[in-house]
Amino acid sequence: MKTLPIVDHPTKAHAFVADNERTHWHDQALWFVRSKRDKQAGSVPEWEYLRSLASQIKTETIAKLGDYLSEFERNATALGATVHWAADAAEHNEIVLKILRDHETLRIVKSKSMLTEECGLNHFLEDNGIEVVDTDLGERIVQLRKETPSHIVLPAIHIRKEEVGETFHEHLGTDEGASDPQYLTEAARGHLRDKFLAGEVGITGVNFAIAETGGFVICTNEGNADLGVSLPRVHIACMGIEKIIPRFEDLAVFIRLLARSATGQPITTYTSHFHGPRDPQSELHIVLVDNGRSQLRNRSEFRDALHCIRCGACMNTCPVYRRSGGHSYSATVPGPIGSVLSPTRDSSSYKSLPYACSLCGSCTDVCPVKIPLHHQLLAWRKELVDQNLLPYSKRISMKGASILFRNPRLFTFAGWVGRKSLKWLPHGMTHNRWNTWTIARELPEPPRESFRHWYAANRKR
Ligand code: SF4
Repeated sequence: MKTLPIVDHPTKAHAFVADNERTHWHDQALWFVRSKRDKQAGSVPEWEYLRSLASQIKTETIAKLGDYLSEFERNATALGATVHWAADAAEHNEIVLKILRDHETLRIVKSKSMLTEECGLNHFLEDNGIEVVDTDLGERIVQLRKETPSHIVLPAIHIRKEEVGETFHEHLGTDEGASDPQYLTEAARGHLRDKFLAGEVGITGVNFAIAETGGFVICTNEGNADLGVSLPRVHIACMGIEKIIPRFEDLAVFIRLLARSATGQPITTYTSHFHGPRDPQSELHIVLVDNGRSQLRNRSEFRDALHCIRCGACMNTCPVYRRSGGHSYSATVPGPIGSVLSPTRDSSSYKSLPYACSLCGSCTDVCPVKIPLHHQLLAWRKELVDQNLLPYSKRISMKGASILFRNPRLFTFAGWVGRKSLKWLPHGMTHNRWNTWTIARELPEPPRESFRHWYAANRKR
């Protein structure tokens, strides 16, 4: 297996927070979305019931995943679609490329799909001479800037409107210094309209695929998925195998939860259903991708992570994500769910992510499918210790703490030493660049006596 580079979340987060102004509005913007989500969730009396139901449906689906995928394949094929299976990202990319080559395609339009991000499809196709245009506005902005999305629902949330203005001036020829969102959006609309007309194949993601019908649903706010697949004759839909749901009636549960959790809207502007190719001259290809999902399914403590419907609510609420930015995770899916998923791919590379968490549990509280995210992050920390992946300094200090806490006499003595000596400790001992834990914290005033001492003196009162 290819070794991935080590992800250093603390260093990247440090770089993000160095821009105080950006950190502040990033935090505020996401908190605004989180607040909208709360309002919407509060307006549905059966919200908690829906969450429980969604969790149960997903548990059942993942338990019988093979059966539901086969049922989906049968029904989708009966509707005229061609179903492909990809074991990993490389196979997914080859399948898509072959379909494009079969149709002598040079230009494609693509709507938002975190799966194709995960598989690195854009670069792969571009390396093979195919022009790829992301048609979601946020995705187009990051594509023009040669960046990756920093959020799964709001891909350009880290970019200021002035920076968008600069990017559009450079690539789309808008007025220099323009930053009016209405003006910039109009410019993007005109630019993308030409790309839509030139697109020879439309590629989309999938939000939900229904085993019972063989159909699938794509949710967008811009209608770009619909336009992208309405003009070309070939539609390629790429989906992770966990996107399956058993029955058509289950869809309503997830549709009610998704947009409310994601952006605080009652429903996305477009909820488009696809059942086979749109006419006999058209083709619909559905690529079902595993890419590590079966491996995750085999791990009982992390299996629930496959329930994720990619709403982004855990990111919007996470105090670490809001203040460190999505790029600090160096992963396609950042935030709490990303910190659970990424180490499953490579625990050594992503070992810093389960620690990018205060264990406040806010992510678990908002997750519409009730993934116990902070428990899973804690479980990952235990796993990293078991795999001997903690840095040496942390291993040694934890070993020392373990000896101390298990030995009452030593603990009492250490407390006494601490109370006597801490007040004389030079400030530079705690505030230096080697001590990253205490540099941002002031030690509390040492108490005059220990609790044991106080208790012994006062127990008779
Ligand atoms: S883990 Fe839950 S809250 Fe986070 S993106 Fe997935 S479904 Fe949404």
